[in-house]
Amino acid sequence: MRPARPQPSRPRIAIVGANFAGLAAARQLGGEYAVTVFDRSPSFEWLPNIHELLSGVKRPADLRLPRRRLVTRAGHRFVRAEVSAIDAPAGRLATSTGRKFGFDSCIVAVGGVDETFGVRGADRYALPFKSVDDCAAIGRKLATLARTPGKRSVVIVGGGLEGIEALGEILRRYGNREGIGITLVEAGARLLPGTPARLDAAVRAHCRGRNVRILTNSPVTAVTPKQVRLRSGETVRSDLTLWTGGVTAPPLLHESGLADRPRQWAPVTAALRSRRFDNVFVIGDAAALPRPLAKQAYYALQMGAAAADNVARALAGRALRDFEPSAKPQLIAFGDLDTFLVSGRTVVASRGLAALKEAVFQITMAEIDPPLNPTALGALTGRLGSAARDLAQRLG
Ligand SMILES: Cc1cc2nc3c(=O)[nH]c(=O)nc-3n(C[C@H](O)[C@H](O)[C@H](O)COP(=O)(O)OP(=O)(O)OC[C@H]3O[C@@H](n4cnc5c(N)ncnc54)[C@H](O)[C@@H]3O)c2cc1C
Repeated sequence: MRPARPQPSRPRIAIVGANFAGLAAARQLGGEYAVTVFDRSPSFEWLPNIHELLSGVKRPADLRLPRRRLVTRAGHRFVRAEVSAIDAPAGRLATSTGRKFGFDSCIVAVGGVDETFGVRGADRYALPFKSVDDCAAIGRKLATLARTPGKRSVVIVGGGLEGIEALGEILRRYGNREGIGITLVEAGARLLPGTPARLDAAVRAHCRGRNVRILTNSPVTAVTPKQVRLRSGETVRSDLTLWTGGVTAPPLLHESGLADRPRQWAPVTAALRSRRFDNVFVIGDAAALPRPLAKQAYYALQMGAAAADNVARALAGRALRDFEPSAKPQLIAFGDLDTFLVSGRTVVASRGLAALKEAVFQITMAEIDPPLNPTALGALTGRLGSAARDLAQRLG
Protein backbone atom coordinates (compact mmCIF):
# COMPACT_ATOMS: atom_id res chain seq x y z
CA MET A 1 0.00 0.00 0.00
CA ARG A 2 1.31 3.41 -0.97
CA PRO A 3 1.62 5.92 1.88
CA ALA A 4 -1.12 8.54 1.79
CA ARG A 5 -0.01 11.74 0.10
CA PRO A 6 0.15 14.65 2.55
CA GLN A 7 -2.85 16.90 1.98
CA PRO A 8 -1.92 20.43 0.95
CA SER A 9 -2.97 22.60 3.87
CA ARG A 10 -6.22 24.44 3.32
CA PRO A 11 -6.23 28.26 3.33
CA ARG A 12 -7.30 29.51 6.76
CA ILE A 13 -10.22 31.93 6.89
CA ALA A 14 -11.26 33.65 10.12
CA ILE A 15 -14.74 35.18 10.41
CA VAL A 16 -15.18 37.60 13.29
CA GLY A 17 -18.85 38.06 14.21
CA ALA A 18 -21.51 35.53 13.25
CA ASN A 19 -24.85 37.25 13.00
CA PHE A 20 -26.38 38.20 9.64
CA ALA A 21 -23.24 39.08 7.66
CA GLY A 22 -20.69 36.70 9.23
CA LEU A 23 -23.02 33.72 9.21
CA ALA A 24 -23.98 34.33 5.57
CA ALA A 25 -20.26 34.35 4.66
CA ALA A 26 -19.65 31.12 6.61
CA ARG A 27 -22.55 29.35 4.91
CA GLN A 28 -21.17 30.28 1.50
CA LEU A 29 -17.64 28.95 2.08
CA GLY A 30 -16.97 25.29 1.30
CA GLY A 31 -14.78 22.58 2.84
CA GLU A 32 -11.76 23.54 0.71
CA TYR A 33 -11.06 26.19 3.36
CA ALA A 34 -10.28 25.83 7.07
CA VAL A 35 -12.86 28.29 8.36
CA THR A 36 -13.03 29.37 12.00
CA VAL A 37 -15.98 31.49 13.05
CA PHE A 38 -15.76 33.65 16.19
CA ASP A 39 -18.57 35.25 18.13
CA ARG A 40 -18.77 36.36 21.74
CA SER A 41 -22.30 35.08 22.20
CA PRO A 42 -23.73 31.60 21.68
CA SER A 43 -26.87 32.52 19.74
CA PHE A 44 -27.63 34.02 16.37
CA GLU A 45 -30.19 36.79 17.04
CA TRP A 46 -32.91 37.96 14.69
CA LEU A 47 -32.72 41.68 15.53
CA PRO A 48 -35.42 43.07 13.18
CA ASN A 49 -38.16 41.65 15.45
CA ILE A 50 -36.69 42.26 18.92
CA HIS A 51 -39.19 45.08 19.54
CA GLU A 52 -41.86 42.37 19.84
CA LEU A 53 -40.28 41.27 23.12
CA LEU A 54 -41.64 44.47 24.66
CA SER A 55 -45.24 43.35 24.20
CA GLY A 56 -44.58 39.65 24.72
CA VAL A 57 -45.71 38.75 21.18
CA LYS A 58 -42.32 37.03 20.83
CA ARG A 59 -40.25 35.23 23.43
CA PRO A 60 -36.41 35.30 23.44
CA ALA A 61 -36.27 31.67 22.20
CA ASP A 62 -38.29 32.60 19.08
CA LEU A 63 -35.55 34.99 17.97
CA ARG A 64 -32.45 32.91 18.69
CA LEU A 65 -30.67 30.03 16.99
CA PRO A 66 -27.65 28.15 18.36
CA ARG A 67 -24.55 29.41 16.53
CA ARG A 68 -22.43 26.32 17.09
CA ARG A 69 -25.03 24.17 15.35
CA LEU A 70 -25.35 26.58 12.41
CA VAL A 71 -21.59 26.86 11.96
CA THR A 72 -20.79 23.15 12.33
CA ARG A 73 -23.62 22.30 9.96
CA ALA A 74 -21.86 24.51 7.39
CA GLY A 75 -18.74 22.37 7.98
CA HIS A 76 -16.72 24.91 9.99
CA ARG A 77 -15.37 25.43 13.48
CA PHE A 78 -17.10 27.76 15.94
CA VAL A 79 -15.14 29.46 18.71
CA ARG A 80 -17.21 31.33 21.26
CA ALA A 81 -14.92 34.18 22.22
CA GLU A 82 -14.50 37.92 22.16
CA VAL A 83 -11.91 38.85 19.53
CA SER A 84 -9.83 41.59 21.13
CA ALA A 85 -7.25 42.25 18.39
CA ILE A 86 -6.80 41.64 14.69
CA ASP A 87 -3.19 41.92 13.50
CA ALA A 88 -3.71 41.90 9.75
CA PRO A 89 -0.04 42.32 8.67
CA ALA A 90 0.89 39.29 10.83
CA GLY A 91 -2.24 37.33 9.77
CA ARG A 92 -3.19 36.70 13.38
CA LEU A 93 -6.02 37.50 15.76
CA ALA A 94 -6.28 37.25 19.53
CA THR A 95 -9.20 36.60 21.84
CA SER A 96 -9.79 38.33 25.16
CA THR A 97 -8.67 35.15 26.93
CA GLY A 98 -5.28 35.32 25.20
CA ARG A 99 -5.75 32.61 22.56
CA LYS A 100 -4.17 33.32 19.18
CA PHE A 101 -5.32 32.14 15.75
CA GLY A 102 -3.55 32.54 12.41
CA PHE A 103 -5.41 33.35 9.18
CA ASP A 104 -4.69 33.83 5.51
CA SER A 105 -7.84 35.88 5.09
CA CYS A 106 -10.17 37.46 7.63
CA ILE A 107 -13.80 38.55 7.27
CA VAL A 108 -14.82 41.13 9.85
CA ALA A 109 -18.58 41.26 10.56
CA VAL A 110 -18.77 42.83 14.01
CA GLY A 111 -21.83 45.06 13.50
CA GLY A 112 -22.17 48.22 15.58
CA VAL A 113 -22.54 49.37 19.18
CA ASP A 114 -24.94 51.82 20.81
CA GLU A 115 -24.23 55.50 20.15
CA THR A 116 -25.07 57.70 23.11
CA PHE A 117 -23.37 60.84 21.71
CA GLY A 118 -21.70 61.45 25.08
CA VAL A 119 -25.06 62.30 26.68
CA ARG A 120 -24.52 62.35 30.42
CA GLY A 121 -26.18 59.42 32.21
CA ALA A 122 -27.36 57.70 29.00
CA ASP A 123 -25.09 54.65 29.49
CA ARG A 124 -26.11 54.35 33.09
CA TYR A 125 -29.81 55.18 33.31
CA ALA A 126 -31.26 54.49 29.87
CA LEU A 127 -31.90 50.92 28.74
CA PRO A 128 -30.21 49.89 25.47
CA PHE A 129 -32.25 48.42 22.64
CA LYS A 130 -29.73 46.37 20.75
CA SER A 131 -30.12 42.69 21.58
CA VAL A 132 -32.63 40.02 22.60
CA ASP A 133 -31.47 40.32 26.23
CA ASP A 134 -31.85 44.12 26.14
CA CYS A 135 -35.43 43.97 24.85
CA ALA A 136 -36.45 41.07 27.11
CA ALA A 137 -35.25 43.17 30.07
CA ILE A 138 -37.29 46.16 28.85
CA GLY A 139 -40.34 43.89 28.47
CA ARG A 140 -40.01 42.73 32.10
CA LYS A 141 -39.58 46.27 33.41
CA LEU A 142 -42.64 47.47 31.47
CA ALA A 143 -44.71 44.64 32.96
CA THR A 144 -43.59 45.61 36.47
CA LEU A 145 -44.34 49.26 35.78
CA ALA A 146 -47.82 48.41 34.50
CA ARG A 147 -48.58 46.60 37.79
CA THR A 148 -47.44 49.56 39.88
CA PRO A 149 -50.30 51.85 40.94
CA GLY A 150 -50.25 55.54 39.98
CA LYS A 151 -49.21 57.44 36.90
CA ARG A 152 -46.09 56.11 35.17
CA SER A 153 -43.96 57.70 32.51
CA VAL A 154 -41.93 55.95 29.81
CA VAL A 155 -39.50 57.91 27.64
CA ILE A 156 -38.22 56.60 24.31
CA VAL A 157 -35.14 58.44 23.09
CA GLY A 158 -34.92 58.23 19.29
CA GLY A 159 -37.60 58.49 16.63
CA GLY A 160 -35.91 56.27 14.05
CA LEU A 161 -36.91 52.73 13.12
CA GLU A 162 -36.13 51.22 16.53
CA GLY A 163 -37.85 53.97 18.52
CA ILE A 164 -41.00 53.83 16.40
CA GLU A 165 -41.18 50.02 16.53
CA ALA A 166 -40.68 50.19 20.31
CA LEU A 167 -43.49 52.75 20.65
CA GLY A 168 -45.82 50.57 18.57
CA GLU A 169 -45.18 47.52 20.76
CA ILE A 170 -45.74 49.45 23.99
CA LEU A 171 -49.03 50.73 22.59
CA ARG A 172 -50.01 47.22 21.53
CA ARG A 173 -49.69 45.91 25.08
CA TYR A 174 -50.25 48.95 27.28
CA GLY A 175 -51.99 51.48 25.02
CA ASN A 176 -55.25 51.19 26.94
CA ARG A 177 -53.73 51.62 30.39
CA GLU A 178 -54.65 55.06 31.68
CA GLY A 179 -51.66 55.12 34.00
CA ILE A 180 -48.86 54.79 31.44
CA GLY A 181 -47.81 57.88 29.51
CA ILE A 182 -45.19 57.69 26.78
CA THR A 183 -42.94 60.48 25.54
CA LEU A 184 -40.94 59.94 22.38
CA VAL A 185 -38.03 62.35 22.00
CA GLU A 186 -36.23 62.85 18.69
CA ALA A 187 -33.29 65.20 18.04
CA GLY A 188 -34.15 65.71 14.35
CA ALA A 189 -37.05 67.53 12.74
CA ARG A 190 -39.13 64.45 12.04
CA LEU A 191 -39.79 60.82 12.80
CA LEU A 192 -38.27 58.00 10.75
CA PRO A 193 -35.69 60.19 9.00
CA GLY A 194 -34.76 58.96 5.54
CA THR A 195 -38.24 57.63 4.80
CA PRO A 196 -41.06 59.49 3.00
CA ALA A 197 -42.59 62.28 5.11
CA ARG A 198 -46.03 60.68 5.15
CA LEU A 199 -44.74 58.04 7.56
CA ASP A 200 -44.11 60.73 10.16
CA ALA A 201 -47.69 61.92 9.66
CA ALA A 202 -49.11 58.38 9.84
CA VAL A 203 -47.35 57.62 13.15
CA ARG A 204 -48.51 60.91 14.66
CA ALA A 205 -52.09 60.22 13.51
CA HIS A 206 -52.07 56.83 15.25
CA CYS A 207 -50.87 58.49 18.46
CA ARG A 208 -53.57 61.15 18.53
CA GLY A 209 -56.03 60.57 21.36
CA ARG A 210 -53.59 58.25 23.15
CA ASN A 211 -51.37 58.99 26.09
CA VAL A 212 -48.37 59.73 23.81
CA ARG A 213 -46.34 62.92 23.43
CA ILE A 214 -43.97 63.28 20.49
CA LEU A 215 -41.19 65.84 20.79
CA THR A 216 -39.11 66.42 17.67
CA ASN A 217 -36.21 68.92 17.38
CA SER A 218 -35.48 67.95 20.98
CA PRO A 219 -31.92 66.73 21.56
CA VAL A 220 -31.40 65.06 24.95
CA THR A 221 -28.65 66.55 27.12
CA ALA A 222 -28.78 64.27 30.17
CA VAL A 223 -30.51 61.21 31.57
CA THR A 224 -30.95 60.76 35.32
CA PRO A 225 -32.69 57.94 37.21
CA LYS A 226 -36.03 59.80 37.06
CA GLN A 227 -35.67 62.40 34.32
CA VAL A 228 -34.69 63.06 30.75
CA ARG A 229 -33.35 66.58 30.18
CA LEU A 230 -33.74 68.31 26.84
CA ARG A 231 -31.67 71.06 25.23
CA SER A 232 -34.70 73.34 25.42
CA GLY A 233 -34.39 73.24 29.21
CA GLU A 234 -37.47 71.05 29.63
CA THR A 235 -37.21 67.98 31.83
CA VAL A 236 -39.42 64.97 31.24
CA ARG A 237 -40.21 62.70 34.15
CA SER A 238 -39.26 59.11 33.42
CA ASP A 239 -39.76 55.85 35.27
CA LEU A 240 -38.23 53.95 32.37
CA THR A 241 -35.98 55.40 29.65
CA LEU A 242 -35.27 53.48 26.46
CA TRP A 243 -32.27 54.47 24.36
CA THR A 244 -32.69 53.90 20.64
CA GLY A 245 -30.53 56.85 19.67
CA GLY A 246 -28.33 55.22 17.05
CA VAL A 247 -25.43 52.97 16.33
CA THR A 248 -21.70 53.56 15.94
CA ALA A 249 -18.57 51.60 15.04
CA PRO A 250 -17.13 49.20 17.63
CA PRO A 251 -13.66 50.09 19.04
CA LEU A 252 -12.11 46.94 17.51
CA LEU A 253 -12.20 48.52 14.03
CA HIS A 254 -9.98 51.44 15.00
CA GLU A 255 -7.85 49.42 17.42
CA SER A 256 -7.03 46.94 14.64
CA GLY A 257 -6.17 49.68 12.13
CA LEU A 258 -9.22 48.96 9.96
CA ALA A 259 -10.51 52.49 10.60
CA ASP A 260 -8.43 55.64 11.10
CA ARG A 261 -10.45 57.08 13.96
CA PRO A 262 -12.48 55.77 16.90
CA ARG A 263 -16.20 55.39 16.08
CA GLN A 264 -15.46 55.26 12.35
CA TRP A 265 -16.85 52.43 10.24
CA ALA A 266 -14.16 50.48 8.36
CA PRO A 267 -13.67 51.82 4.84
CA VAL A 268 -13.83 49.15 2.14
CA THR A 269 -13.57 49.03 -1.66
CA ALA A 270 -16.59 48.24 -3.80
CA ALA A 271 -15.48 44.60 -3.53
CA LEU A 272 -15.75 44.82 0.31
CA ARG A 273 -11.99 44.54 0.79
CA SER A 274 -10.51 46.66 3.57
CA ARG A 275 -8.84 49.82 2.28
CA ARG A 276 -6.12 49.27 4.88
CA PHE A 277 -5.26 45.56 4.54
CA ASP A 278 -5.60 43.29 1.49
CA ASN A 279 -6.15 40.15 3.57
CA VAL A 280 -9.21 41.58 5.37
CA PHE A 281 -12.79 42.02 4.14
CA VAL A 282 -15.32 43.98 6.19
CA ILE A 283 -19.05 43.40 5.80
CA GLY A 284 -22.45 44.21 7.26
CA ASP A 285 -23.03 47.22 9.47
CA ALA A 286 -19.27 47.50 10.20
CA ALA A 287 -18.38 48.38 6.60
CA ALA A 288 -18.26 51.88 5.09
CA LEU A 289 -18.84 51.30 1.39
CA PRO A 290 -17.81 53.79 -1.30
CA ARG A 291 -21.56 54.40 -1.85
CA PRO A 292 -23.20 54.52 1.58
CA LEU A 293 -25.78 51.82 2.21
CA ALA A 294 -28.50 51.64 4.88
CA LYS A 295 -27.48 49.45 7.80
CA GLN A 296 -29.99 46.69 7.22
CA ALA A 297 -30.02 42.95 7.82
CA TYR A 298 -30.79 42.07 4.22
CA TYR A 299 -27.77 44.02 2.96
CA ALA A 300 -25.65 42.29 5.63
CA LEU A 301 -26.80 38.90 4.31
CA GLN A 302 -25.99 39.89 0.72
CA MET A 303 -22.57 41.23 1.72
CA GLY A 304 -21.77 37.97 3.52
CA ALA A 305 -22.27 35.93 0.37
CA ALA A 306 -20.38 38.47 -1.78
CA ALA A 307 -17.40 38.62 0.60
CA ALA A 308 -17.14 34.82 0.74
CA ASP A 309 -16.94 34.77 -3.05
CA ASN A 310 -14.30 37.51 -3.08
CA VAL A 311 -12.19 35.86 -0.38
CA ALA A 312 -12.13 32.70 -2.50
CA ARG A 313 -11.16 34.80 -5.53
CA ALA A 314 -8.42 36.64 -3.62
CA LEU A 315 -6.95 33.39 -2.30
CA ALA A 316 -6.93 31.96 -5.84
CA GLY A 317 -5.33 35.14 -7.26
CA ARG A 318 -8.43 35.96 -9.32
CA ALA A 319 -10.01 39.36 -9.90
CA LEU A 320 -12.55 40.46 -7.30
CA ARG A 321 -16.18 41.27 -8.09
CA ASP A 322 -17.84 44.48 -6.97
CA PHE A 323 -20.67 44.04 -4.51
CA GLU A 324 -24.00 44.91 -6.17
CA PRO A 325 -26.67 45.38 -3.50
CA SER A 326 -30.19 44.56 -4.56
CA ALA A 327 -32.65 46.81 -2.77
CA LYS A 328 -35.61 45.26 -1.00
CA PRO A 329 -38.65 47.03 0.41
CA GLN A 330 -38.45 47.75 4.11
CA LEU A 331 -41.20 46.66 6.50
CA ILE A 332 -41.67 48.89 9.53
CA ALA A 333 -44.05 47.64 12.21
CA PHE A 334 -46.12 49.91 14.42
CA GLY A 335 -47.43 47.38 16.91
CA ASP A 336 -50.86 46.09 15.90
CA LEU A 337 -51.89 49.56 14.73
CA ASP A 338 -50.13 49.52 11.34
CA THR A 339 -47.27 48.17 9.25
CA PHE A 340 -45.54 50.23 6.56
CA LEU A 341 -43.94 48.81 3.45
CA VAL A 342 -41.41 51.33 2.15
CA SER A 343 -39.82 51.04 -1.27
CA GLY A 344 -37.96 54.18 -2.32
CA ARG A 345 -40.55 56.97 -2.16
CA THR A 346 -43.49 54.56 -2.23
CA VAL A 347 -45.28 53.66 1.00
CA VAL A 348 -48.04 51.11 1.52
CA ALA A 349 -49.63 51.13 4.96
CA SER A 350 -51.82 48.29 6.17
CA ARG A 351 -52.29 46.31 9.37
CA GLY A 352 -52.32 43.22 7.17
CA LEU A 353 -48.66 43.70 6.28
CA ALA A 354 -47.77 42.53 9.79
CA ALA A 355 -48.39 39.00 8.56
CA LEU A 356 -45.98 39.60 5.68
CA LYS A 357 -43.29 40.76 8.12
CA GLU A 358 -43.94 37.64 10.15
CA ALA A 359 -43.65 35.44 7.04
CA VAL A 360 -40.32 37.08 6.09
CA PHE A 361 -39.09 36.32 9.63
CA GLN A 362 -40.27 32.70 9.58
CA ILE A 363 -38.94 31.96 6.10
CA THR A 364 -35.52 33.56 6.62
CA MET A 365 -35.08 31.82 9.99
CA ALA A 366 -35.97 28.53 8.27
CA GLU A 367 -33.42 29.25 5.53
CA ILE A 368 -30.74 29.91 8.14
CA ASP A 369 -31.68 26.83 10.17
CA PRO A 370 -33.59 24.46 7.88
CA PRO A 371 -35.98 22.10 9.70
CA LEU A 372 -34.37 18.65 9.47
CA ASN A 373 -37.06 16.41 10.93
CA PRO A 374 -40.78 16.00 10.26
CA THR A 375 -41.78 17.57 13.62
CA ALA A 376 -39.76 20.74 12.99
CA LEU A 377 -41.01 20.89 9.40
CA GLY A 378 -44.61 20.46 10.61
CA ALA A 379 -44.17 23.28 13.16
CA LEU A 380 -42.78 25.61 10.48
CA THR A 381 -45.59 24.76 8.05
CA GLY A 382 -48.11 25.49 10.81
CA ARG A 383 -46.54 28.89 11.58
CA LEU A 384 -46.42 29.86 7.90
CA GLY A 385 -50.01 28.70 7.41
CA SER A 386 -51.20 30.86 10.27
CA ALA A 387 -49.24 33.89 8.93
CA ALA A 388 -50.86 33.35 5.49
CA ARG A 389 -54.37 33.01 7.00
CA ASP A 390 -53.78 36.14 9.07
CA LEU A 391 -52.69 38.04 5.95
CA ALA A 392 -55.71 36.84 3.92
CA GLN A 393 -58.10 37.70 6.76
CA ARG A 394 -56.73 41.21 7.30
CA LEU A 395 -56.52 42.05 3.62
CA GLY A 396 -59.79 40.39 2.68
C1 LIG B 1 -34.08 47.01 17.00
C2 LIG B 1 -33.57 46.78 15.62
C3 LIG B 1 -34.46 46.67 14.56
C4 LIG B 1 -33.99 46.44 13.27
N1 LIG B 1 -34.90 46.27 12.26
C5 LIG B 1 -34.46 45.93 11.02
C6 LIG B 1 -35.38 45.64 9.98
O1 LIG B 1 -36.60 45.70 10.17
N2 LIG B 1 -34.89 45.27 8.77
C7 LIG B 1 -33.54 45.17 8.54
O2 LIG B 1 -33.13 44.78 7.44
N3 LIG B 1 -32.64 45.47 9.50
C8 LIG B 1 -33.06 45.85 10.73
N4 LIG B 1 -32.17 46.15 11.72
C9 LIG B 1 -30.74 46.25 11.39
C10 LIG B 1 -30.08 44.89 11.34
O3 LIG B 1 -30.37 44.16 12.51
C11 LIG B 1 -28.56 45.08 11.17
O4 LIG B 1 -28.34 45.78 9.96
C12 LIG B 1 -27.88 43.71 11.11
O5 LIG B 1 -28.00 43.07 12.36
C13 LIG B 1 -26.40 43.88 10.75
O6 LIG B 1 -25.84 42.61 10.69
P1 LIG B 1 -24.31 42.37 11.01
O7 LIG B 1 -24.06 40.92 10.85
O8 LIG B 1 -23.46 43.32 10.24
O9 LIG B 1 -24.11 42.82 12.53
P2 LIG B 1 -24.82 42.28 13.84
O10 LIG B 1 -26.12 41.66 13.53
O11 LIG B 1 -24.81 43.42 14.80
O12 LIG B 1 -23.84 41.15 14.35
C14 LIG B 1 -22.53 41.41 14.81
C15 LIG B 1 -22.05 40.15 15.52
O13 LIG B 1 -20.68 40.30 15.85
C16 LIG B 1 -20.45 39.84 17.16
N5 LIG B 1 -19.26 40.56 17.65
C17 LIG B 1 -19.09 41.90 17.67
N6 LIG B 1 -17.86 42.20 18.12
C18 LIG B 1 -17.26 41.03 18.38
C19 LIG B 1 -15.97 40.69 18.88
N7 LIG B 1 -15.06 41.62 19.18
N8 LIG B 1 -15.67 39.38 19.06
C20 LIG B 1 -16.59 38.42 18.78
N9 LIG B 1 -17.81 38.69 18.30
C21 LIG B 1 -18.14 39.98 18.09
C22 LIG B 1 -21.73 40.15 17.91
O14 LIG B 1 -21.88 39.30 19.05
C23 LIG B 1 -22.78 39.88 16.83
O15 LIG B 1 -23.23 38.55 16.87
C24 LIG B 1 -32.60 46.37 13.03
C25 LIG B 1 -31.70 46.50 14.10
C26 LIG B 1 -32.17 46.69 15.38
C27 LIG B 1 -31.18 46.80 16.52
